[in-house]
Amino acid sequence: MHSDEDRKQKRVRDAEYYRKNLESIKIKKAAYYQRTKEQHRKRNAENYKANKEKRRASGAAWKKANPEKVKAAAARYREKHREAIKAKRLTYLDKTKQWNKKHYEKNKHSRDEYAKQYAEEHPEKVREYHRKCRNAKPEVYRAHRLRRIASLKTDTNNSPTATELKAIYSPGTKCHYCDNQATAADHFIPLSRGGKHVMSNIVPACKPCNSSKGNKIYGTEWTGRPNK
Ligand SMILES: [Zn+2]
Repeated sequence: MHSDEDRKQKRVRDAEYYRKNLESIKIKKAAYYQRTKEQHRKRNAENYKANKEKRRASGAAWKKANPEKVKAAAARYREKHREAIKAKRLTYLDKTKQWNKKHYEKNKHSRDEYAKQYAEEHPEKVREYHRKCRNAKPEVYRAHRLRRIASLKTDTNNSPTATELKAIYSPGTKCHYCDNQATAADHFIPLSRGGKHVMSNIVPACKPCNSSKGNKIYGTEWTGRPNK
């Protein structure tokens, strides 16, 4: 049997030994760790597998109790793997971009068809949507609309020539909506409402009617200038 005194002395001796041999102990420990690394890893993995729920719960609890440590560990990881993370993110972005592009092209036609059909079936919703956009960001809306109209114009194969357009409001031609001399070519069904930039959709109009009608549908939404 060891006495309390014996035990105390042993503790002191051990502490002394530890202090004196700190470096070599560290080296030995590291060597031991390296030697048995695989074994430990395997054992840990097996233990994890066997006690998955428990280990997960305790891990989550530890994380919750040590948010600062979690943060620091994440920062250390990011610092250590900075280049790899960057490379991965770039690859990912690139892939996403490519996928988006492919998806966009693939569904372009059906999407356009859908939008057209929706606009035909819900004119009031489309109007409401445009009104909101226009109010929120008038410049952006205007630019977008002009771009859309331009693309519609250039996309159409049988778009009228400048001469044909000008001929439509030649001297002596009356405005389609009033008795004024026509001075502009008007899209009877506005381009923004699905009308085509083709001669069959273009009528002569005076400037006041043309701007008063805007993108409204003649007959229902617009029935001519008031007090003309
Ligand atoms: Zn007119």
